[in-house]
Parts: sequence; structure tokens; C-alpha cells
Amino acid sequence: MSNVRVRFAPSPTGGLHLGGVRTVLYNYLFARKHQATFVLRIEDTDQTRFVEGAEQYIFDCLKWCGLEPDESTQKPGEYGPYRQSERKDIYRKYGEELISKGFAYYAFDTPEELEKMRSDFKSDTNPSPQYDGNVRYKMKNSLTLSKEETDKLLATKVKHVIRIKMPEHETISFTDMIHGEVNFDSSVVDDKVLLKADGMPTYHLAVVVDDALMKITHAFRGEEWLSSAPVHILLWKYLFGLENMPQWAHLPLIMGPNGKLSKRDGAKYGFPVFAMNWTDHKTGELTEGFREKGFLPEAFINLLAVLGWNDGSEQEIFSLEEMVEKFSMDRVHKAGAKFDFEKARWFNHEWIKKSEFKSLNSKVRELLEAENIQIIDDPQFEKVIELVKERCTLLPDFVQQAGFFFKTPETLDVDAVKSKWNVDKAGFFNEYCGLIKGISDWKLDNIENAFKDLVAEKNIRPGELLLPLRVMLVGGKFGPAVFQIAELIGKEETIKRIKNALTIFNQSI
Ligand code: GLU
Repeated sequence: MSNVRVRFAPSPTGGLHLGGVRTVLYNYLFARKHQATFVLRIEDTDQTRFVEGAEQYIFDCLKWCGLEPDESTQKPGEYGPYRQSERKDIYRKYGEELISKGFAYYAFDTPEELEKMRSDFKSDTNPSPQYDGNVRYKMKNSLTLSKEETDKLLATKVKHVIRIKMPEHETISFTDMIHGEVNFDSSVVDDKVLLKADGMPTYHLAVVVDDALMKITHAFRGEEWLSSAPVHILLWKYLFGLENMPQWAHLPLIMGPNGKLSKRDGAKYGFPVFAMNWTDHKTGELTEGFREKGFLPEAFINLLAVLGWNDGSEQEIFSLEEMVEKFSMDRVHKAGAKFDFEKARWFNHEWIKKSEFKSLNSKVRELLEAENIQIIDDPQFEKVIELVKERCTLLPDFVQQAGFFFKTPETLDVDAVKSKWNVDKAGFFNEYCGLIKGISDWKLDNIENAFKDLVAEKNIRPGELLLPLRVMLVGGKFGPAVFQIAELIGKEETIKRIKNALTIFNQSI
């Protein structure tokens, strides 16, 4: 292991969406490539947004994707605890250190006073006033109160927060691994709360303190956090020295059909946005995940990897090993990456075609069993999977494409046959049953040759007979080559299905 340490720092507030999993993936790829340690830290300091079960869900998603961390709440290393709510006592001292250095202050304003400030300072040019350099000296805080007054309020445990004192007109710069040099004017950022009245740190203080204490060398996160970077950089400067700050990379946004991809886009456009099924704890509403939709984890991480990255070639299909080998942060794009569900399906199709029986076996078996289709013979199942996998885009497609090999179709698409059905065709199939009954070596060639010989004798166009035969064996107009199906389902079953269909078709002449 090198000294390189990266982290994924989710807040357990709901389902893990595409963007979250892509952040995990890039962390993971970078970590494996640099023999680094991948840390998962749970950022649960905002008690109002905490959602029961969300933490376990994150672990389950990472497990499904094959992107498990090296250190976490479930696998503690030497930098624990890995859940911020259990680190509560650590943060206050850093807040106080900032105050003693003059970079932060205590603020005692009540919600009513804050509300009044917002209405007093509201103007056409400033529609939503912030607590900043223009305002702070008119508020109730340790900058405006005397030391005695402040100490008295603290001693009597009056509710208060600690706020950062943003400097006036300072240019805050850092070099992002993706965006290059980024500059901010400190004056546009408000005096963010660092420590809340309940004693919990806000995200801003906790993320900096924990990245420092957990010796994080590289911090990758979504671009939505770029606007918070100036606060984090100042905190690094004031508390730990900029030379120890991790290298930042702000990953491009994932765009949906209409701007930034939102969780609601899933329901709106009918595609998943979460890795796995997620049930909203308040409304009970279930949002279908990529896993349940029938995506393979290999396909899911592959499609996420190329949402914002490529290796410089035209290659699109990458295994995890290849991604580890080829990934580099300087090939991550700056611009937002557009998510296209059709393309996502294409990735899955490619991966299904590429997958070996052993990786599809249990997943497909489970889907078939849920439809009361029992598989007893593994070699037979393997042949079927190999035969039909190129016809399957999502895993549930196997139910239609493979199910009829193991279960006689319950319904037949009579309409597909009806208009062209006649006595001659009925006669043909009756004779064909008799012919194939005599085949002792039940092999594709023999079954097909018997058909061709009889067709030649009867002078009916083979195309006119192949469709009814398919409907007889499969139930509809789908599936692989029809004689291959006959070979696999066996002689008895083939004859049984033809005879059964004849009865049904004949009723509709
Ligand atoms: N807790 C933040 C989130 O939920 C993490 C942002 C970061 O990685 O700094 O996305």
C-alpha cells in the first residue's frame, strides 16, 4: 500500500444515484491504480436529513457493484470512527481554534433575528441577503459583543453557532485535477456556519477536519461541491496548512434529458437513477434500481465509467481490470456528461453477450424460478443461455427468450398463423410428427433434413411453414433458430407441442 488515501463521503439521506456510484467508481479506480486505500466515511451530521437504512443501502450497492472500500464503519482501520456523528466531540476544538486565531466567531442570533436581517437587508440588487461581511457587524456575535458579554452568554449556555469570518476580497485559488486552476473571490461567499447549535459540525468543518485526520491525499466529489471549495480551502489554510491539503477533483455533472439529472427524472422518463431499488421511508414509494431493472453490475460500472471519461481511444467496453489499468483523472472531462438510457441498455446488451454462463446462471435462474419455471439440468441450461443471450438486453428478457425451453408455452400467438393456416399445412405437420418420431439420433441436422425432405415432397414454400412451427414450439414470433429449439427441447416435447398446437390452430380455420 502507498500513502495515497482517497475517500467517498456520502450522507445517508436516500438512495445512491448514478452520480454517487460514479464518484465511488472513480475513487476506486484511482485507489487500485495507485495501490491506495479507499475509505468510506459516513457524513451524517445533518440529523434532520438522516434516513434509517440509507447507510446499509450504500454498502449493499457498493457490494453489488464490486467496489468495496478498504476502511469503513463496517471494516474499521486506524482512523475511525468512520461515522461523523460518532466523532462529534472532535470538531468543537477546531471551531474554537479558528476563533482564537481570529478566523471565526460565535454567533448568538435567534431564528427571528436572522429572519429580520433577511428582510431588513433585502433590496432589488440583493434579493436574498446572506450573513457576510456587509452584515456581520450588525448582528449579535462575538465580533459585535464585548468579551465579557460573549463569555457570559457562553457560560449560561445560550444557543449559538460558530461561523467562519470570510475575508474581504481575497482571491482563493487551487488547482483542480480536472478543472485546472480555479479562482474565487472570497467576498461572494457567506460566513458559513461551521458548528451548529446542537453541537454538531456542519459538513464544511467536518469534511476538512476528517480529511485531515484521516490523512486523505486526494478528494474526489461531484461538481456541485465546487462552490463550497473556497470555504474548505480557507479552513485547510487556517487549521492544517495548505501544503497538507488533498488534491481535489470535482467530477462533471451527469446531465439528464433536461439539464442536471435529478432523482425525479427517473420516474418522469421511465429509467432508473438509483443503483438498487430504494423505498422512500416517508411515502413508501419504491424507485426501481438498475439492478432490479436487469442490469449486470459489470455493465453498470462500465457505463458509469465512460460517463465523463475515456481512455483516448474509441473503446467503450471496459472490464473493471481494464478500467483500473487505463483510468486517469486527467482524462475526465470538464463538461457535464449526458446520460442516455438507450446507450445504457446497449452497454448491458454487450455485457450479457460477453458474460459467461457462470456469471449469468444464478441471476437468470432466479428470474425464471420467480415465473415458476424450474431448471434442473445445468448443461441444458448452459446451452440455452448461450443460444439466447444475444437476444437479451436486460436480464428479465431471459424469461421470454429462455423460459419456453423449460416450460410448454401456456398460450400461442394464433393470430400470427391464423390468416394463412389451411388443411394442407395441418396435413404437413401431422406427417412431420410421424417422420420425426422415427429419428433415432435427435440432432439438429436430422430434424431439419426431415423438414426439408417433406417440404420438397409437398411443394409448400418453407417460409410458410417455419413461422407456424416457431409459434408451435415457442408460443410466439421470437427465439433462436427453430430447429435448434427442437433439438434442445427434445423429441417428445417437440411432438407434443406440435400436436397440441395443431388442435388449437385447426379450431381456428
Ligand atoms: N457528504 C457530501 C455528500 O453527501 C460529500 C461531499 C464531499 O465529498 O466532500 O455528497
